[in-house]
Amino acid sequence: MEEMLKGLGIDELILKSEDKLKVLSIFSDKIKDCKKCRLHTSRKQVVVGVGNPYSDVMFVGEGPGREEDIKGYPFVGKAGRLLTEILEELGIDRDRDVYIANVIKCRPPGNRDPMMDEINACTPYLDFQVRIISPKVILCLGRYSMYYVLNRMDQPKISEIRGKFHVSRYNIPATATYHPAAALRNPTLKEFIKKDIDMVFKKIVERF
Ligand code: SF4
Repeated sequence: MEEMLKGLGIDELILKSEDKLKVLSIFSDKIKDCKKCRLHTSRKQVVVGVGNPYSDVMFVGEGPGREEDIKGYPFVGKAGRLLTEILEELGIDRDRDVYIANVIKCRPPGNRDPMMDEINACTPYLDFQVRIISPKVILCLGRYSMYYVLNRMDQPKISEIRGKFHVSRYNIPATATYHPAAALRNPTLKEFIKKDIDMVFKKIVERF
């Protein structure tokens, strides 16, 4: 990752900064023209992240969809609205209590699954965001973020992972739940997602 940071011109001085908003703003600016993988040819814009970088909880989704690609923020389409609804039902303020990013920052055409070489090209950016935000807990939304964040290239099912915490590749406790888009197709999954988000926020309370 250090080479990538040097390539972006983000030096150690900035990494040591307490001003996470400033660092992330510089970071967003540096990667907005990224052409490291084929997805740059079809995207409208790079979708970096949204929320409070000082929060203890980070959500990691898969990649931007059509509305995210247009608006430039993660989870602002139908699935994002469902996520916001679940958070509100739990009394969690999306803008204040969580930072949200994706495994890949550009929309795959037709919302197809990300390919492994695209994930490999893009995840140094996620690694950087996790380093800056330093969350106490990570919740993976969907399979591809779970594979990467939990370093589970054996590709387990979400049902095998959810409901308990695991050690992530960042050495930060992490778990996974279904992507809200899956709950749009199968509404029974909404309660599982809600339960998993509740568990994540209870973990934060336990730690303090
Ligand atoms: S998906 Fe990531 S690596 Fe690929 S072009 Fe977009 S920002 Fe760059």
